[in-house]
Amino acid sequence: MSLLTILEYPDPRLRTKATPLVAADFTAALQQQIDDMFETMYEAPGIGLAATQVDFHKQLIVIDVSEEKNQPWVLINPELTPLEPTCELMQEGCLSVPEYTADIERYLRIKVTSLDRHGNPQEFECEGLLAHCVQHECDHLKGIVFVDYLSRLKQERLRKKYLKLQKA
Ligand SMILES: [Zn+2]
Repeated sequence: MSLLTILEYPDPRLRTKATPLVAADFTAALQQQIDDMFETMYEAPGIGLAATQVDFHKQLIVIDVSEEKNQPWVLINPELTPLEPTCELMQEGCLSVPEYTADIERYLRIKVTSLDRHGNPQEFECEGLLAHCVQHECDHLKGIVFVDYLSRLKQERLRKKYLKLQKA
């Protein structure tokens, strides 16, 4: 296994829209990519990582919100449905926006349909932290970063701050 490089905001590659995986994509190389993404996420450490963040533009997400880091969950071609209109604010961070957090509003309860790492269909209902995490990671696959929900002024400040840090 090997650690992957995580793209950092405002890298334009984070704006790439990921394409769905097809049957022919389920190769040994894909299994390696998934293992590398888990290793990279655990090492960071983080609770979720979208393929977009490691410059791999397929609809693939790895997540583990457990304290013991023993509940790895792979989502391929995920689709979300809110189970109720209720939203909640929760503090979010992102491995692509280091050392920054903001309160973001997301659906409280969602249904997630996707494929697992071997291409088998799976369906889950989740809420709270896991639901927030899934929505955050699914945004990455569409080229959306959580800071996009902040005011333009805050976004501009962050963009300048990170560009400066990356030059240093
Ligand atoms: Zn993120």
